[in-house]
Amino acid sequence: MSELSDLYQEVILDHHKRPRNYQELPAANRKAEGYNPLCGDQLTLFLQLDGDVVTDVGFVGSGCAISRASASLMTTAVKGKTVAEVQSLFRNFHEMVTTDVDPDPERLGKLAVFAGVREFPARVKCASLAWHTLQAALHGDEQPVRTE
Ligand code: ZN
Repeated sequence: MSELSDLYQEVILDHHKRPRNYQELPAANRKAEGYNPLCGDQLTLFLQLDGDVVTDVGFVGSGCAISRASASLMTTAVKGKTVAEVQSLFRNFHEMVTTDVDPDPERLGKLAVFAGVREFPARVKCASLAWHTLQAALHGDEQPVRTE
């Protein structure tokens, strides 16, 4: 973690210790599981989708600080958004962690803390796991998501 700036580390550690929306949603109408065998991160994501709006989202699971913090920040970022807005955010996030394009703070907000992981391909999988699992939940995929 020493590779990330102090501020970014602080945000990531905060979300790792106190993950937001860390709960099962019994009323969820979408659910998906994600697994990153490279690191051992696993999570179950719950979505409440009303029309095309994500009205509620929750997750449970276990994993490294980056995977947990990413899932936590992802849930806070997508709650209340339309599916189209979520997809656009996913593209922005994915571009940020896989290319040299600088993150757009207006669009990504706190998600920009993960920009540093692009230098560490193994960490990209940790940071992306929640987002790929979200895609599966939105698409209604029954198969668990694996990053490998
Ligand atoms: Zn991990």
